[in-house]
Amino acid sequence: MSVIFGPIDSRRFGRSLGVDLSALSKQCNLDCIYCELEPSRPVSKQDLVVEVDLIILELKEALCRYSDIDEITLTANGEPTLYPDLNLLIDRINLIKGDTKTLILTNSTTLNSPDVYNALLKLDRVKLSLDAVSKEVFKKVDRPLNNIEISNIIDAIKRFAQEFRGDLFMEILFVKDINDAPDEIARLNQVLQNIPCKRIDIGTIDRPPAYRVQRVEYEELVKIAEQFDSSLAINIATRKPSKQLQQSFSSREIVQTLKRRPLTADDIEILFDEPSQARVQELIAKEIVAVSNSTGVAFFTVVKSLDK
Ligand code: SF4
Repeated sequence: MSVIFGPIDSRRFGRSLGVDLSALSKQCNLDCIYCELEPSRPVSKQDLVVEVDLIILELKEALCRYSDIDEITLTANGEPTLYPDLNLLIDRINLIKGDTKTLILTNSTTLNSPDVYNALLKLDRVKLSLDAVSKEVFKKVDRPLNNIEISNIIDAIKRFAQEFRGDLFMEILFVKDINDAPDEIARLNQVLQNIPCKRIDIGTIDRPPAYRVQRVEYEELVKIAEQFDSSLAINIATRKPSKQLQQSFSSREIVQTLKRRPLTADDIEILFDEPSQARVQELIAKEIVAVSNSTGVAFFTVVKSLDK
């Protein structure tokens, strides 16, 4: 058994070494309808625990073997914050990581536990999932243990977002006909406006899920993205569509579209035909459109009126 995997190259987070905090079996407090792991009964704690010493030993070896690592990603075959020695583990990683960034990918459900909350404050980057706001939809999509309340999770996320000094990312996974209705998106939009974060990744099922549910097509994700407030950095993070979606846009249409929602480089490549992409470059040259990389993804926004 190895708890370290990778390195994996990601455009958004660089070259990353993964640490699997549930390497012995799936241990999760949710049973998400879209999970890419095998379905399993949710649990509130880990019974099979890998020792901190072993993780640190393997991590040290991997950091020596690969000198060009940008990030150490805490993840799990399940939910990483169920790892009982998370606080100690993060302290020990911080002692050996040097300039390498630390990131955790969590389903957010344990953030209202003071131990988890305080441990996560010591990381460089945190990515929190939030798939629903209403109790009913949360139960349908994430299938939690009975004592997990979405309202408590959202309160904890809001507090954490105010206090955390690192980079906070949010993630929503949409499942067709489960959490993609306009009223649920409106609730997510409202909540997210009170959660200061660097970027919100919205995605869908990319690999065979645990249950018989369907992905949301790319065009639908574009429509979903448009339902969020234009102040939110919404990034469509899913595999590129196989069919041709490119259309022609005039310079005025490009400006109007970007005013409604800033687009990423991927959006522009997927949705705009070549002449329209050239028009985007002209708008950049005229300083009407600007490109910002502050979220870790290139976002195109309007900074000056077309008529000035
Ligand atoms: S939180 Fe992650 S590991 Fe747990 S059930 Fe959901 S998708 Fe699977």
